[in-house]
Amino acid sequence: MANNKRVWVLGNGQLGAMLSHAGQPLAIDVLPVDIMAPSDEKLPLADDDIITAEREQWPESSLSLQLSTHKNFINGPVFGRLADRYTQKSLLDELKVATAPWELVDNDTDVNALYGKYGERVLMKRRTGGYDGKGQHWLKQAENGQIPADWRGEAIAEQAINFDEEVSVVGVRTHNGECFFYPLTLNLHQDGILMASVSPLPRLAPLQAEAEAMLGTIMQGLDYVGVMAMECFRVGDHLLVNELAPRVHNSGHWTQAGTHMDQFQLHLRALCDLPIQQPQVNFPCVMVNLIGIDKDDRWLSLPNAELFWYAKEVRPGRKVGHLNLSVHNAAMLESSITQLKSWMPEQYQAPLQWILDNADF
Ligand code: ATP
Ligand code: MG
Repeated sequence: MANNKRVWVLGNGQLGAMLSHAGQPLAIDVLPVDIMAPSDEKLPLADDDIITAEREQWPESSLSLQLSTHKNFINGPVFGRLADRYTQKSLLDELKVATAPWELVDNDTDVNALYGKYGERVLMKRRTGGYDGKGQHWLKQAENGQIPADWRGEAIAEQAINFDEEVSVVGVRTHNGECFFYPLTLNLHQDGILMASVSPLPRLAPLQAEAEAMLGTIMQGLDYVGVMAMECFRVGDHLLVNELAPRVHNSGHWTQAGTHMDQFQLHLRALCDLPIQQPQVNFPCVMVNLIGIDKDDRWLSLPNAELFWYAKEVRPGRKVGHLNLSVHNAAMLESSITQLKSWMPEQYQAPLQWILDNADF
């Protein structure tokens, strides 16, 4: 019997776990690695093994070095380039992909010049390490907001975008340079953290071509292979890129319930150079992130719900799972969401209502 193909994952969080899950039916052994584990272990890496990452940044450790220096570490140079918002935004400018106007905050940056250029609210973002809205700092002219000394050289400043809504697109590029995309996803963020997603929405279809052209240009420009996610602001009839993730992405989790080939399988197929066709959408879907909440098995009684529980310690603000609900008809969706509202705490009431208001399939 031939040996299974092996894909190592730098990192062992929920994305690595879901990649493993997706690899099983393809006979791909996906091996997430806890790079922080104190270890002098020599990983049994073979020459034809494939290496990917579930995060764009990682501390150097014996284990991370073994993975990141392997010749088949796919997209190796891309991670660092996108992990730093300065180089990420520079790339978008170079490729002429529309993004929120920005500049580097360095020792010479004058806060009044920022207010003059971008308006009375300016968002500073740490160059590295930010996620789920962490590493952000609003400068407000009305409050005489100043640039903290330890943000100089370490942050970019961005114009506050008065967007209509937030959307994202997940796409894939193969070794041959072919690209495929899922339909645009509508996302709701609360306090900088993704709460819910809805896809596909007929009303977003007119923006699909623009989204694909943007992400296609980026993946092409990076000679990228695998799945990439692009978060955008919709402003009127156009998109502005907010940020890029060189990996499977939370706003693509709905594809597990809604498509014949989810983003995890798509990523593995691309990495392993297996055939890929346009992913087919079987059902519209909604996804609810489970954040700092205990597992409730009543969720499993909903007729259209699929639970992904990450088995992490529950802490406030921490993503501990997600629920996918495929939408077979409007009545079933309404009944399931209404039921969830009665079971879930206060901070879920607005996101669940948002789903009902927006799930217009
Ligand atoms: P992620 O967890 O997705 O990596 P993040 O914390 O790294 O997120 P962003 O996605 O850049 O950072 O920002 C988080 C949220 O903050 C966005 O989804 C959006 O709601 C808001 N935001 C970001 N940039 C802007 C901006 N320029 N104007 C207005 N709102 C913004
Ligand atoms: Mg984001």
